[in-house]
Amino acid sequence: MSTDTPKLSPLESIKEESNFLHGTIDEEIAQGADHFDKSNIQLLKFHGTYQQDDRDKRAELKKAGGGKAFSMMVRLRIPGGRISSDQMLSMLDLCEELGNSTMKITTRQTIQLHGVLKSDLRPTIKRINDIALSTLAACGDVNRNIMCCPAKRADQVHGEMERLTDELTEAMAPRTPAYHELWLTDSESGEKTLEGGGQVVEPLYGATYLPRKFKMGIALPEDNCIDIYTQDIGLLAIVRDGKITGYNVLVGGGMGRTPSAEKTYPALAKRMAFVTPDQTIGVCQAILKVQRDNGNREDRKVARMKYLVNDWGVEKFRTEVERYFGESLADCTDDDVHGFDDHMGWQEQGDGKWSYGLNIENGRLYDNDAHQLKAAMRAVCHQFKTEIRMTGHQSVIFTDIEEGDKEKLVDLIKQNNVPLTEETSTVRRWSMSCVALPTCGLAITESERRLPSIIDSLEQPLAKLGLDKERFTIRMTGCPNGCARPYNADLALVGKAKEKYTLFAGGGWLGNRMAYIYKDLVPDNTVVDEIIGIFAAFKANRNGDESLGEFCTRVGKDDLAVMAAAAPRP
Ligand code: SF4
Repeated sequence: MSTDTPKLSPLESIKEESNFLHGTIDEEIAQGADHFDKSNIQLLKFHGTYQQDDRDKRAELKKAGGGKAFSMMVRLRIPGGRISSDQMLSMLDLCEELGNSTMKITTRQTIQLHGVLKSDLRPTIKRINDIALSTLAACGDVNRNIMCCPAKRADQVHGEMERLTDELTEAMAPRTPAYHELWLTDSESGEKTLEGGGQVVEPLYGATYLPRKFKMGIALPEDNCIDIYTQDIGLLAIVRDGKITGYNVLVGGGMGRTPSAEKTYPALAKRMAFVTPDQTIGVCQAILKVQRDNGNREDRKVARMKYLVNDWGVEKFRTEVERYFGESLADCTDDDVHGFDDHMGWQEQGDGKWSYGLNIENGRLYDNDAHQLKAAMRAVCHQFKTEIRMTGHQSVIFTDIEEGDKEKLVDLIKQNNVPLTEETSTVRRWSMSCVALPTCGLAITESERRLPSIIDSLEQPLAKLGLDKERFTIRMTGCPNGCARPYNADLALVGKAKEKYTLFAGGGWLGNRMAYIYKDLVPDNTVVDEIIGIFAAFKANRNGDESLGEFCTRVGKDDLAVMAAAAPRP
């Protein structure tokens, strides 16, 4: 037998045999079980759904001889993070009626519901589509939610970027009718357009879709608020005389890595070529096709496009993209990222109206005795009917507020005991975390439930050091998969073992520099002390106005450790 035939990843045959993502999802929904089987779990991701279980309950259920407390995470696809007040209100109703009563704003400007029971999955997805939103391609081996600067501005540049986001979303979307048939068609009608099919229904993706997930984002050089260097395709808008002349195309960014696999690594995107506006969609599709046809389908650990770009080198990759596109491309202009605006607080839109960016800690909307974030959101939506824009830092922007209404909006937020952005410490405002425990199946240790208390412990020492107004990013994830983009942050905690973290330092809010491992396997109970040590070293040894990440990069890991040990603690 030949040993030359590559052994494809099992997921490849699941995709191929799924009849364009149908699988047996319909049949399984009709059955009474509280969870899906292994193949359908994979296919459901393309429909925006992850099957999860409450890991806090595992031990107790096991002891009682039971199974797991299964539920679904349902993620939406919201291009550029823009939704209406009515859509937000409907989503809040949905999270209360069919979810776990909270809602998560993600690091990719979209919304996740958690705790949806399998029996409620179809009504949940149906209701999302009824309000003109979708979950199709929010997860899975396809292009996912496209990020775009969420600032509302009355200028041509932002309008064009938003239009491109919407057009790209359409151009890069899967075409399978399975989504419509599974979730939006009355199952009694029996309509099954693909049964016994095999026709080409996915001209862009083909029957096996992409080797792995795919992410895109659009930014401006002066405002990299969507972290362009972490995307598979980053489009950096080049503006001359108030008009977008084209985009510098960056390729091959990606944050995830697998700790047990040395061959995996996070990577920043590489600058590939300049495209004019009318070339942009075609070139993005050509890039996707190059990855579709050449990405690794044998080993999912190294299947992201970053590995192809790095293995080939960006020149070879570009040549192949040009071949697929059918034209050669110009080189990138010299423009690069040089600013980052999180769009928090009051910002003028340029049309006489205002936007207000409200920091949502870790993107979690909930109500409890201390804070009523959902109630505040409802009140603002009802009163102002504003457009809501979600940021790449898990927060929200209320748009189109009249000058005379600014105080009213602030009052509504305060009445619900939600801290204003202006009352939020800089360190908290610039922090973010992934979900991790109890629902994420990959989580090794805590993240979202832990970061707020870590920030609590850092606020006072920072103030004592006079660093409380210093802007730097702290990001935390419960595993190395990197959902909160930790590897280019000033400081990051990445779950490595139970209650142990890898502490990274040296990235930065600009997002164009990788952090390095400062210390590994740091026990949870010493994390705060380690970070305060870095702050103290920064205070004592900083050059001029260099940022925390620049300082950590300049001195390097070993000297940083020496300085941290020697620096006076606050
Ligand atoms: Fe889960 Fe890891 Fe992503 Fe956090 S980074 S949500 S733990 S996969």
